[in-house]
Amino acid sequence: MSLSSVQSTLSTLKSCQDDIGACMDMVSDVALGIVEAQGMDNSPALKKLEEMILECSRLDREISCFVESVDEKTAQVRREPPDAMFHLRNAVKERFTELTAGVTDADLQRHSKVVAFRDSVRKYAMQAGQTAAENEEEEFDEDIAVTQSQTNFTCPLTQVEMVNPVKNKKCGHHYDQEAVLEMIKAKHKNKKKFRCPKVGCGNTDVQQSDLKLDLLMKRMIQNHKRQSGKT
Ligand SMILES: [Zn+2]
Repeated sequence: MSLSSVQSTLSTLKSCQDDIGACMDMVSDVALGIVEAQGMDNSPALKKLEEMILECSRLDREISCFVESVDEKTAQVRREPPDAMFHLRNAVKERFTELTAGVTDADLQRHSKVVAFRDSVRKYAMQAGQTAAENEEEEFDEDIAVTQSQTNFTCPLTQVEMVNPVKNKKCGHHYDQEAVLEMIKAKHKNKKKFRCPKVGCGNTDVQQSDLKLDLLMKRMIQNHKRQSGKT
């Protein structure tokens, strides 16, 4: 086996890490779907997903250890006489065992995607709980609810489907984050107030501090996009 073939195999292995990352994103998405449908009640399923994402974290880590071992040992071999090549396999194996033995559970927990998984499940559960409570309070009839959910995805500023919806905690209206921040900035620059662009809204002074990213809606829009893409 030549050193160049080692390098190309290694780059294939590195691309596996991208797939593992995508897999972790998918697991997170499934978890959010469960929280959305059942809240935090279905903890066995969430627990299982957490195990899966930690397993991905371990795989990702092991690939990194392997790549590191190979890089280190091939660099050594290059500096040594040609017959050192014959020991490469064992040298890599030893170094890999050494590196993986040093990986702790805490390391796996620290993986950025594992952290993001926990964070978004927690935030999402909080927000889902809040929205459910708000909807119960409002008690509007179903027909209105349906038309609202259909039109709510459109930003009153851009007139297109929102990407990062933010909710105004004063009047309850949604806007696309980028568009509304730009508008507020432009108005304030001219010493003017920015009034809520939603037709009929009495809120005449929208402040940046009133706006909160609506993760739940963001997810609903993404689902909607996925579904309409299928048909
Ligand atoms: Zn408003």
